[in-house]
Amino acid sequence: MQRIVVIEDEEQVLEVVKAYLEKDGYDVYAATRGKDGLALFYKNNPHLIILDLMLPDISGEEICKQIRKQSNIPILMLTAKSAVEERIAGLGLGADDYLVKPFSPKELLMRIRTVLRRSMPTQLLADELSFYRDDLRINSVEHKVYKKGQDANLTPAEYKLLMLFIRNPNQVFSRDHLIDKVFGMDFEGSDRTVDAHIKNIRRKIEDDSKNPKYIVTVFGIGYKFEGERGDS
Ligand code: CA
Repeated sequence: MQRIVVIEDEEQVLEVVKAYLEKDGYDVYAATRGKDGLALFYKNNPHLIILDLMLPDISGEEICKQIRKQSNIPILMLTAKSAVEERIAGLGLGADDYLVKPFSPKELLMRIRTVLRRSMPTQLLADELSFYRDDLRINSVEHKVYKKGQDANLTPAEYKLLMLFIRNPNQVFSRDHLIDKVFGMDFEGSDRTVDAHIKNIRRKIEDDSKNPKYIVTVFGIGYKFEGERGDS
């Protein structure tokens, strides 16, 4: 079941959205305050966030920024503002789509499906993933990676990078694309930064960093993930 966190301070809107999503088969966690919404995000590892721009405590923009620091999770923004600049500002902060109030629940469901489909082209990410019979185990609820049962101690940036690869197996990523996806547009990094992160990840998850079986170098282009799924 796909989990959705809805953060919306207008209780009437929240109730309607929650009812429609639940009817459509989603597992819904609702909050009327930004702080509670963020807590739900950290706790429940949702597949999507529906976020109102205007909240009483933390602004939707700020929440979006906080979430983007550690996750590529799709964010659908709700707003009463219809100014074009506001929308662009919201999308610049990393929202995947925008819906201007008032909207129809049908429209909302359509947008959700589109955003979810776009963000997870291959498969839904399970809470726990295993590669090569538990050689590598990833718990996406805990945000932990285990190599042969031991915590690999990945940094948040390394985790984010690894998850991007895992979500897109066999897709080749250029270094520029990785910088953009993982560190954001305003990141002052270079190709070397990416290489350094990959080197560190390899040291932590590969048996032999010189002969990687997870993150493989594609010469002249970048990197791709080749780990084979398999539980023990
Ligand atoms: Ca509001």
